[in-house]
Amino acid sequence: MYLTQGFHRSLQQTPDAVMTIYKNRARTFGEVGERVARLAGALQGIGVSPGDRVAILALNSDRYSELLLAVPWADAVLNPVNTRWSAAEIVFSLDDCQTAVLVVDDAFASLVPALRSAHPGLKSVIYCGEGPTPDGMLDYERLIAESDAVGDARRGGDALAGLFYTGGTTGFPKGVMLSHANLVTSALGAGASRALFRSGGTYLHVAPMFHLADFTGWNVQLLVGGTHVMVPSFDVRMLLEVIERNGVTGMTLVPAMIQAIVDDPATADFDLGSVETILYGASPISETLLKRAMAAFPSAGFTQAYGMTELAGLATFLTPEDHAEGIRLRSAGRAIPHTEVKIIDSAGAEPGPGCVGEVVVRGGHVMQGYWNRPDETTAAIDAGWMRTGDAGYMDHAGYLYVVDRIKDMIVTGGENVYSAEVENALSSHPAVVECAVIGLPDERWGERVHGVVVLHADAETTAQELRDHVKSLIAGYKAPRSFEFTPAIPRTAAGKILKRTLREEYLADVPRR
Ligand code: ATP
Ligand code: MG
Repeated sequence: MYLTQGFHRSLQQTPDAVMTIYKNRARTFGEVGERVARLAGALQGIGVSPGDRVAILALNSDRYSELLLAVPWADAVLNPVNTRWSAAEIVFSLDDCQTAVLVVDDAFASLVPALRSAHPGLKSVIYCGEGPTPDGMLDYERLIAESDAVGDARRGGDALAGLFYTGGTTGFPKGVMLSHANLVTSALGAGASRALFRSGGTYLHVAPMFHLADFTGWNVQLLVGGTHVMVPSFDVRMLLEVIERNGVTGMTLVPAMIQAIVDDPATADFDLGSVETILYGASPISETLLKRAMAAFPSAGFTQAYGMTELAGLATFLTPEDHAEGIRLRSAGRAIPHTEVKIIDSAGAEPGPGCVGEVVVRGGHVMQGYWNRPDETTAAIDAGWMRTGDAGYMDHAGYLYVVDRIKDMIVTGGENVYSAEVENALSSHPAVVECAVIGLPDERWGERVHGVVVLHADAETTAQELRDHVKSLIAGYKAPRSFEFTPAIPRTAAGKILKRTLREEYLADVPRR
């Protein structure tokens, strides 16, 4: 198995079809194929050897997609860098993977001198931006123009294709080693479920391409052979314009993006009728928001994905048919083909339908391990089963309900409270834009349920009213005992709520004894 196999099929069958569109630049599969083969030659020419890591620190573009092909084509390992990291975090990851080659665009070129001095192992920096190439960097287009094309990867299967860092939601990001087979298995599972993109469709990259959520979309689109449209970053109006102009048929969105789209009054002014498929996931979504999203994109089939970096992105899908049925909108769906998903209790036994335990997953997409972290790898993978660190339960038909991260679960007065359930209840109140529910230390209850809430600008409500609202929907002990009203909730680049930051902020305010 080779990551580039879907691409070769398109090169052979539809060389003249448009593969990438970025701003006013469009390229066919044939053109991209030639460029990728030369770029791979250029990488080898500057000393990239099989298995070397090539880091990409850039916003979304057509060149990002070319790099995703050229690096494995050159037998090297993709290392997409989180664009929201600080310089110190980037240096950590360059050191961690001993990266010798880094590709940057305009947004990050100015960081290069600092990165070079902090990480002397950096031998070459390639500039893939749109302006003149800064001194000391290699020009992307020149490398392509002046290099000879080389043949595709010799190493596939279990050889590493990518080193992707986890989101850093619960702690320091870990490098996840994904092989060609891991990534192809994930795309095949998604493709076989028939819940995703179709050949001839146009996929929009608006979620960050460094993150495995959008990479999964890229990977599936590569398999089916459709067109990729890129926008550099998320902006609601730009997104709506690009959808209308290019007749976009599919895209991956995270719930925080969906929230911004449905809250923008301009959304109603655009013709979004071309959209057939919206893949969303990466963090929990409230039923209220999901229903608003389904109304905003009436032509779209929605697919929720639950997965993680360690599983090459995917474990379950809630399909468009499940959405249309409307009775399981809080579920993350069922195992995708070639994947097993089950719930285990602390003794490793399966507690049965409806009982909460840890979600574990087995399949050909389970990572090779964490880079440089053998102990954490051993703790995470048990006889082929990946321990997700997520708490959830399943119903009789195999639908998974993710209720919390185990690290975020709240134990109050001896009772377990799962934040997803409370957040769902809280966000159904009309005054609430978004919310996060966390546990805070409490002398009486051990932990107390605490709600952090962003209200609509003109909304009037009180903590008591919100608490009563939650209590009218779920058991009283789950309702937040305290609230904080805030203008914004801290999130990761993939839009995940940083609960550890919320807890740390609170603890910093508590005088230490
Ligand atoms: P870190 O592992 O560094 O703390 P992270 O877990 O956020 O970061 P990712 O691999 O990007 O890094 O995210 C995977 C996690 O995202 C899952 O373990 C789960 O907690 C959450 N998640 C993904 N999809 C969904 C979904 N559909 N519903 C609820 N949670 C989801
Ligand atoms: Mg994780």
